[in-house]
Amino acid sequence: MTELNLSTKPPKYSLTTRIVIGMILGIVIGSFLQWLMPNGKDFVIDLLVFDLSIKSFFVDGILEVIGQIFMASLRMLVVPLVFVSLVCGVCSLQDTTKLGRIGGKAIGLYLVTTAIAISFAILIALLIAPGEGVNMIANTSFSSREAPSLAQVIIQMFPTNPFEAFAQGKMLQVIVFALLFGIAIALSGKTGERVAAIFEDFSVVIMRLVTILMNLAPYGVFALLATLFTTVSIETFGNLIVYFLVVLAVLLIHALVTYPVLLKIFTGLSPIRFLKKMRDAAIFAFSTASSNATIPVTLETATKKMGVKNSIASFTVPLGATINMDGTAIMQGVATVFIAQVFSQDLTLADYLTVVLTATLASIGTAGVPGVGLIMLAMVLDQVGLPVEGIALIIGVDRLLDMTRTAVNVTGDSMVSIIVAKSEDQFDKDMFLDEKAGSAIEEIDFHHLKDEQTS
Ligand code: ASP
Repeated sequence: MTELNLSTKPPKYSLTTRIVIGMILGIVIGSFLQWLMPNGKDFVIDLLVFDLSIKSFFVDGILEVIGQIFMASLRMLVVPLVFVSLVCGVCSLQDTTKLGRIGGKAIGLYLVTTAIAISFAILIALLIAPGEGVNMIANTSFSSREAPSLAQVIIQMFPTNPFEAFAQGKMLQVIVFALLFGIAIALSGKTGERVAAIFEDFSVVIMRLVTILMNLAPYGVFALLATLFTTVSIETFGNLIVYFLVVLAVLLIHALVTYPVLLKIFTGLSPIRFLKKMRDAAIFAFSTASSNATIPVTLETATKKMGVKNSIASFTVPLGATINMDGTAIMQGVATVFIAQVFSQDLTLADYLTVVLTATLASIGTAGVPGVGLIMLAMVLDQVGLPVEGIALIIGVDRLLDMTRTAVNVTGDSMVSIIVAKSEDQFDKDMFLDEKAGSAIEEIDFHHLKDEQTS
């Protein structure tokens, strides 16, 4: 074995602290670069031998490359991770008839929390009236997509070709195939046991890959936020500041009040500990604006920090990332009221109920990727006869809201996972209570990979 003899001192700061530092530095440096390049004009440093363009070298070069590689590697893990851990989860259930019950509880809770979120958002938006007196003309157009019928959504959950589902990252199809595959393994006696053991080994390796990636996160998060903050400017907010603040406030209330209250009522667990343990996953979600790309981290948070057994988390986390979008529903609720007010259209109580229902159902089958909330909003507006062009009004401030609502979405996925796990007795309370749970596995000694082999 070659001795690299490099320092093995553990890093001075914990991974979470390093990710937070990356995030703050990203925001500060991004904003500084924007200040250097007002109105997107490049800033060129004359280095005598050659000119160094901040925009093409630093922003579109280094930062963009690091950020996009980070995003791509997170997404690269999603399909194999979901498939392998879901198969393991089903195999470890012993009694596969439990699946229906677990599924029912998870889907029920996901839908109810989304309905609460959007109803609350509509109520607050009606009280504050962010669109009252706002005079705006949409200067971009936005075309709507037709809402798929519930029947279509259900049919499309079943893949005709699992490899196509893998290749295209169709999460609901991957979930259905993994469930069926896992059930078949569980029913295959001795052969099934051998296959299940291989999947267990795969799961260890893939989780290791997740950990490796998390160690690179401080740099990835830094690059993503620095790139974004070279373009976010205060002026874009203009008329939209009240809308922006209302969405933000409801998102924060949902994450910091609704979830903690539900968690306390259903499980009696400490909401503060829950929120603290959510930090990494929330930062990942915030930086990537994609609950799908955050699945690896949410899954690790649920199983290694929160104490949710893999048999539950492997099912509820990917399912939640696909169908549970409370944060998105909140934006849609406020946006609908805002757009109705800007276009001076009155909505009736029945209209609002339609909005709640459509937004809740539309969230099923729509993947957790950046910006998808706006596409779903088009369907919602269509249902109540509001002009879809209204979306063009709010698109300018949507990215920051997208990031925040994605953090809320993954927090909801984790909370529901805990409630379901606790009710099924698949929950490790000691792990939840252990403040340090999960932190030991975070630190990887890249210099001594050979010594770290897991037995
Ligand atoms: N970006 C969100 C998510 O991935 C979805 C959205 O609201 O656009 O959860």
